[in-house]
Amino acid sequence: MSEYKKKFVLDEERIPKAWYNIVADLPTPPSPPLNPATLQPAGPDDLAPIFPPSIIAQEVSAERYIEIPEEIHQIYRMWRPSPLIRATGLEKALDTPAKIFFKYEGVSPAGSHKSNTAVAQAYYNKLDGTTRLATETGAGQWGSALSMACQMFGLECMVYMVKVSYHQKPYRRSMMQLWGANVIPSPSDQTNAGRAVLAEDPESLGSLGIAISEAVEDAVTHPGSKYSLGSVTNHVLLHQTIIGEEALLQCQDADAYPDVIVGCVGGGSSFAGIAFPFLRENLAGKTNTRLLAVEPTACPTLTKGKFVYDFGDEAQSTPLFKMYSLGHDFMPAGIHAGGLRYHAMAPLISHAYDLGLMEAVAVPQTKVFAAAQLFAQTEGIVPAPESAHAILTTIDEALAAKEAGESRNILFNLTGHGFLDLGAYDAYLSGKLEDYDHPEEAIAASIARLPKVD
Ligand SMILES: *Cc1c(COP(=O)(O)O)cnc(C)c1O
Repeated sequence: MSEYKKKFVLDEERIPKAWYNIVADLPTPPSPPLNPATLQPAGPDDLAPIFPPSIIAQEVSAERYIEIPEEIHQIYRMWRPSPLIRATGLEKALDTPAKIFFKYEGVSPAGSHKSNTAVAQAYYNKLDGTTRLATETGAGQWGSALSMACQMFGLECMVYMVKVSYHQKPYRRSMMQLWGANVIPSPSDQTNAGRAVLAEDPESLGSLGIAISEAVEDAVTHPGSKYSLGSVTNHVLLHQTIIGEEALLQCQDADAYPDVIVGCVGGGSSFAGIAFPFLRENLAGKTNTRLLAVEPTACPTLTKGKFVYDFGDEAQSTPLFKMYSLGHDFMPAGIHAGGLRYHAMAPLISHAYDLGLMEAVAVPQTKVFAAAQLFAQTEGIVPAPESAHAILTTIDEALAAKEAGESRNILFNLTGHGFLDLGAYDAYLSGKLEDYDHPEEAIAASIARLPKVD
């Protein structure tokens, strides 16, 4: 290894060789997905129209470790291991005895943790003979990560981008197009699902649920195409555990094992990614690290949702998953953390939360942006608005430590940079951001429309 690599911790030996599957270690198995027509457990056959065989095998796997193929590892090495950084500037500003560390996933080419699974999914699809991937994207991070990954493996990429973000984040669209993807705003007139929504509400801002319906429909109606998604499913959470496995080694190197881990949750993949390897240590009785998920008050899935069987999308085209949900037709307010506007939570995160293995809190966006500004001013990095939810809660934890007069190690997941979110920061700086409180009535109404399973 060169001196340069030694000095700047680009230590290939510290990139784990396997992903970690929490299913092997959970005290009770998660409830299986159901076929919505028969209400029987959905097997690999139910997933075959949308996912390739290698991905399905990972989706239903109970194997504890799954080896990372060399082709994927090679691409990971472009930006991994991602740095673990001590936020000394933020600690000083807060005058806290707590030690604050963050794992910085914004160093990937697409600027977020989403590249970790995008590269893996493009690889396995290529291996299984897929020629084209269709997907949805909210804020655009997932679409850009997958566009790059498809480009690297020679796959076509079709992206349905939630309309509110398509207009708020035009540069994300440029990035995707630069990497060769075809991008259209959702709801679109390209699919039955999109046309149905537009007929009801021509001004629809769109949602991840609607965009998923469009992408799934697109994939099953185009030859050689499969569907790809950037969060929620077991295989995505699996790929993201590279974050936590690395962080575990880095925290040990820094002699700073975390007392609490904080991460934002949209579909829950990055949180699972950083937290599950540490949850393994908790479950083995070795540690007692608190795992704290942060969501927006405008889309409070864990803190206000119900643990039920629900569809993953607006048009009810997916299997039924047992998960915390606000209802598949819940329409969240147009907050600027587009990546956190999903109506449900990953089944594995939902299960862990239901078992009391982790905690959750909801926070309003104006405070989130104030925390992001303090972070930018003390640590230099402009965070993605999604990641800034974790920063706000980390600050609260550090201030609680100060109040209690005790030291503690806090690790948070800085899931992405905010260079393409400056429109949102502009709105914040000019006082135009508003908060949306828990939309109790809308939640109650959409939960009342949930499919009746148990
Ligand atoms: C997509 C995204 C999220 C939320 O998705 P999860 O699956 O919950 O991780 C958070 N931060 C960033 C930067 C994102 O792009």
